[in-house]
Amino acid sequence: MKSAQAALKPAGKKTGRRRTHRPVVRPEKPKVSALRFSPYAWAKLLYLRDRGDTEVGGFGITCPEDLLLVEDVRLVRQRCTWASVRFDDVAVADFFDRQVDAGRKPEEFGRLWLHTHPGRSAQPSETDKDTFLRCFGSADWSLMFILARGGQTYARLRFGVGPSGQWEVPVEVDFHRPFPATDQAAWEREYLEAVQIDGDPLGVAFPEELPAWELGSVEAETGGLEDAWHDWLDEDFPSLWEQEEDL
Ligand SMILES: [Zn+2]
Repeated sequence: MKSAQAALKPAGKKTGRRRTHRPVVRPEKPKVSALRFSPYAWAKLLYLRDRGDTEVGGFGITCPEDLLLVEDVRLVRQRCTWASVRFDDVAVADFFDRQVDAGRKPEEFGRLWLHTHPGRSAQPSETDKDTFLRCFGSADWSLMFILARGGQTYARLRFGVGPSGQWEVPVEVDFHRPFPATDQAAWEREYLEAVQIDGDPLGVAFPEELPAWELGSVEAETGGLEDAWHDWLDEDFPSLWEQEEDL
């Protein structure tokens, strides 16, 4: 923001130290451009998607200077079927607390909700859309990302403040920044610790084309995420917001 304001100053005109008023500082919003994944984050997401026959879900950890660049993908404890993900509400709250303890701001870890579809379509179900609105509608911006097994992606950016609105954004893998090496052993541990499979997914004979996905009505409840998100907002978000406003 500072650079943008500086760029708007007339060239050659010195403003000195006198300032008649302090500009209102708003939380940084991402530029409306592509959602990008680092090669590390993308490889990890592919590994987690293909690890089992169920959906898996988590949060994207983004670069502080570039809120649409995902540098890591983190799972929380969840119960999964081939058609649903239910986050454990305590686990979500713990995840948020740990991220804050690690020095991250909510905009870096709590705005990008992602999950996989084991079928070919990444189109969001009605439950996905409802969850996105209910759980993230109170945030000033948020993003829902879906990756299907066939490689199809879906990313929807939503602004909840100002001239609010939502729209799909393209998805890219960004090779321009340094990134860590793959760590499949750690990813495997994270998967095993977080993912609990409901029922017997191997016993579910889901059709090749998954027509139900297109109709978007097969996902089960995601109340755990919703409850945890709202609890966390109530408890921690106001103070965090105040900190951000003071920056
Ligand atoms: Zn979904």
